Amino acid sequence: MLTGKTALVTGSTSGIGLAIATTLAMNGARLMINGFGDTAAALAQVRQHDAGAVYHGADMSKPAEIADMVASCERLLGGCDILVNNAGIQHVAAVEDFPIGRWDAIIAINLSSAFHTMRAALPGMKKRNWGRIVNVASVHGLVASAGKSAYVTAKHGLIGLTKAAALESATTGVTVNAICPGWVLTPLVQKQVDARAATDGVSNDEAKHRLLAEKQPSLQFTTPEELAELVIFLCSPAAGNVRGVAWNVDGGWAAQ
Ligand code: NAD
Repeated sequence: MLTGKTALVTGSTSGIGLAIATTLAMNGARLMINGFGDTAAALAQVRQHDAGAVYHGADMSKPAEIADMVASCERLLGGCDILVNNAGIQHVAAVEDFPIGRWDAIIAINLSSAFHTMRAALPGMKKRNWGRIVNVASVHGLVASAGKSAYVTAKHGLIGLTKAAALESATTGVTVNAICPGWVLTPLVQKQVDARAATDGVSNDEAKHRLLAEKQPSLQFTTPEELAELVIFLCSPAAGNVRGVAWNVDGGWAAQ
């Protein structure tokens, strides 16, 4: 379905981003992946479906590296038709205890990076009159939780950025949307499960249940693969007039 299209997924060496990159490749797109950690394993996984997939190691807190990544994608793959802004980090603390460096990093990686990638990729998309931008926000872009001020601020901002960019491209073949997962069991969330298990003195399974029971009525984690399929839909012709939405996949979290 996406044969002939090129895709850049930020933060795609792990979790949700890796599932999105893999699923885009399975659907025929040519991929540039990005992120830290076991980059060779991530690239090998994507290359099972797109032998020509490439990796760029841009740090999403560094605007010059982001500009180089988008330019490299256009140069190496021939364009950047699909842009998924997924890279993200978390830190949990009350406002008065929040380390300034963690605040700055979360705003840079979870919010400003999407401005920098979109700024660089939109001209090519508009020139070709086709593009799909999917911003991986969060249910925390719609509602707040205590202890997550920087994350909630960044994700609310990302949804605002999504809406503004969607309006600016509304008469073109470029769509801009956000997806808003609830709890997804990735390394980012496993850290919070571990912290909860330690604080409450309970098992890993009980900590998972407690986290879900507080917020996510389905009592089930959303899976990275479910989110990847939503990205595929947003890239499909059927979604050509879906613009500026923030689509939650949160087991009912935001319906409460
Ligand atoms: P993860 O920790 O598994 O993956 C994060 C990815 O971002 C990794 O590839 C990591 O290397 C990359 N990354 C981190 N800092 C980076 C930087 N400075 N530059 C480049 N890459 C960087 O986390 P995940 O749960 O898969 O999260 C992916 C996205 O989904 C994030 O934006 C997160 O906020 C969002 N999200 C996650 C959940 C959840 O429950 N897991 C819920 C809602 C939204």
